[in-house]
Amino acid sequence: MQTLSLPASPAAFAGAGWSDIAPYFEELAGAPLSRDNVEDWLRSWSRLEELVDEAGTMAMIAYTGDTGDEAKEKAHLRFSMEIFPQAHEQSVRLSKRLLELGYTREGLETTVARFRTDAEIFREENVPLTAELEELSAAYQKTVGGLTVQWEGETKTIPQLQPFLKERDRQVRERAWRLGNEAYLAHHAELAVLFDKMFAARAKIAANAGFSNYQEYAFKSKHRFDYTPADCARFHDAVERTVVPAVARQLEYRRERLGLDTVRPWDLGVELERVDSLKPFEDVATFVDRAKSIFHCVDPTLGEEFTLMAREGLLDLESRKGKAPGGYCTKLSFRGKPFIFMNAVGVADDVNTLVHEAGHSFHDFAAHRQPLIWQRSPGHEAAELASMSMELLASPYMAKPDGYYTADEARSAQIEHLEDILFTLPHIASVDAFQSWIYTSGQGHDAAARDRAWLEVRNRFERGIDWSGLERERVARWYRQLHIFEYPFYYIEYGIAQMGALQVWRHSLSDQAQAVRQYRDALALGGTARLPEIYRTAGARLVFDAETMGELVALVEQRLNDLRAGR
Ligand SMILES: [Zn+2]
Repeated sequence: MQTLSLPASPAAFAGAGWSDIAPYFEELAGAPLSRDNVEDWLRSWSRLEELVDEAGTMAMIAYTGDTGDEAKEKAHLRFSMEIFPQAHEQSVRLSKRLLELGYTREGLETTVARFRTDAEIFREENVPLTAELEELSAAYQKTVGGLTVQWEGETKTIPQLQPFLKERDRQVRERAWRLGNEAYLAHHAELAVLFDKMFAARAKIAANAGFSNYQEYAFKSKHRFDYTPADCARFHDAVERTVVPAVARQLEYRRERLGLDTVRPWDLGVELERVDSLKPFEDVATFVDRAKSIFHCVDPTLGEEFTLMAREGLLDLESRKGKAPGGYCTKLSFRGKPFIFMNAVGVADDVNTLVHEAGHSFHDFAAHRQPLIWQRSPGHEAAELASMSMELLASPYMAKPDGYYTADEARSAQIEHLEDILFTLPHIASVDAFQSWIYTSGQGHDAAARDRAWLEVRNRFERGIDWSGLERERVARWYRQLHIFEYPFYYIEYGIAQMGALQVWRHSLSDQAQAVRQYRDALALGGTARLPEIYRTAGARLVFDAETMGELVALVEQRLNDLRAGR
């Protein structure tokens, strides 16, 4: 085919509607396709995807940076509601043409495998069920997003209770903790009915696609080609055997330090290492400058990439009126550069968030060397390996003059990070094991059985916390986990990636330069390699077994002991 004549930049699509974009897809759909011209055709299609994707991303960035502007909101909604869904439909249509041609080559195998899987599990009758699930997700968001409590005469959202969970006054913590849970418990029955409907829709989707349960369908639709539900079950066992006892030891240390009889759930947020919370920076200029130095210390090229982001306006970090809440890293697919958005206010979490998101952005830079858009995106297991490894690789440079903290503060920040790694793994195992039960036990439709199953799962993975008299509150925890409602089975990725990140970190302790080199090589593979190969390139492997997990947990505990002893 003649190379498609496309606009020179995404700016051409900034004000576009679907009718302006559709003809390009039509042309690709109608063009003669053979093995002789398939590479040209793929390049044109990829370029079109880049243009549309970047135009829509720019609209999203503009809107989240200024939510009060009506024109920006309209442009963002035009892309998210009108253009992206239709472009996706057209992409599926084009991917079928590629599959029909039976064409593949080195570097394209993973892309073709993903296209083939999507085509295999697609069923027309699942389209309305997917739309129904989106509506149910919106209903969940609406219910839990709108929850408020009365706190000393003021109306507060649940996230606004967070600082009170760190209070040194135990009664304040308990009150905040109970209030937050009661807000959910007031909607217990309503949320259970919502989940009943989600469960039924998912069971039907799986059955329509010929699967005996939704877990099997989810593994396919998430392109989990390299591990199975049985591997995840081994991961749960490994967490139970290695992490759960380590967390119990940390809880015992906490109990002693706080001088308590038992550790109650509201005692988990108090910082043990220091009385005042960390104040890493006063203004965003300092926030960015120190980050540049830190990434330079990790690796000069990464430092340059971050500096470029600052120079080219690809960082929108400070909290200001009218900005959407939260943070994200997204990529501008056409120009091959990432963008980081967050709401920094000068607390330690801002530093953690920036370092994590910067890990994603280094991935985007590296993967853009792959010529086609589909070759650049790996799954979450590899994406989070990039960001979680960066958290650990950057941790030695958090002290001044390069970083934000005094030596003592940097030490306590690292302690909190390592503690958090240990405490999060049993939660990841809980969420994954619970969902496996929901979709395979035959009892997932029964709301009371679900709550009982959650308690069993929690008893297995959460030891050392005194939950007596708090059974209802303990049940409430799963209703707060939006992934279970909105993104089923999306969670174990964080556990797999954390195990990978700990291996990258372990390597860096003996050979920093080599560990970072391998990290960057792995990122540069983008989505062209299978997961085990990406991990192998990073100097790691997929860990589901108790032996390797045990080694990594022991390393974290050893480091915690050393840091606490001032070593
Ligand atoms: Zn992430």
